[in-house]
Amino acid sequence: MSSFAGLYLVAAFFLFGGSGDAHRSVHFELSCGADDRVARIVLADMEHTLDRVLRFCDRIGLKYEVGVDRIRGRVVCDERARSALRQPGMQWGVYDTNSGNIYLDPSIFAPGEVALSGPRLAALRLTVRHETAHLVLDRLLPRFGTNAPAWLAEGLACLFEHVPEDEADADTLPNAFRQADLRRLWSASRRNPAIEFDIVRVLESRDWPDVSGVSASKADKRLSAWYASCWAIVYYLSEREPACLADVVRMFNGAAEGADSTARAHEALRGAAGCLNGDVSSRVVRFALGVEARH
Ligand SMILES: [Zn+2]
Repeated sequence: MSSFAGLYLVAAFFLFGGSGDAHRSVHFELSCGADDRVARIVLADMEHTLDRVLRFCDRIGLKYEVGVDRIRGRVVCDERARSALRQPGMQWGVYDTNSGNIYLDPSIFAPGEVALSGPRLAALRLTVRHETAHLVLDRLLPRFGTNAPAWLAEGLACLFEHVPEDEADADTLPNAFRQADLRRLWSASRRNPAIEFDIVRVLESRDWPDVSGVSASKADKRLSAWYASCWAIVYYLSEREPACLADVVRMFNGAAEGADSTARAHEALRGAAGCLNGDVSSRVVRFALGVEARH
């Protein structure tokens, strides 16, 4: 995973006295007993993700009513996080809509644990950026998360997971991590038609895939495939149908639009004139994999 050149320049940090282990940036606080080096990386990623989400909203024309200076968020590591983190695919962290906090597994920062570097640090950073995107979107669009289907909320969060190079078009580059999962899935489904892979089925679902009673490794595989599909659909929308995506998100948020807003959002997505009408699977996959459509 590539590094972010401005990592250490994003915000002013200081050690917060009193509790002894909390670190703060302009908008965020990390209370996990992390050492200074890791705390700086995590908080810089959070500030960076906030900036990216705001730029994304501006780019697709999605208006929000909350002032940016009022956005605050905390990362908490404690035992309460562990029950949420026992679900497959959530070994590292979770955003909790009730408390508005991000919870991370406390063992990540435990003294004596394997040093946070290499793939371990990369996994933590990807998780932090994903959960921060949920947090920021929840602050900007407080009704979106509860009204929108899971694939849309997750696909949006996946847009901000990867660290882009410092280039003008960095925000529109694909998420290489999800793209690799999608590529594996797509080529496997072509070799073996019995392998389940169906963008349309993801689109028609409202919740996370049911992985109860499935072995941990199967559940992880199924969830990785599902997240890759969610990312692909939302990445396609954000690049090819940005105005439509903005409308749909606004309608799911339902600001001042009454109770039928959610139904209209579904219609705008999948109806006859919706932004994901017709035979959408191959369009989405080809776009997300960077393969030009043949027609
Ligand atoms: Zn998520």
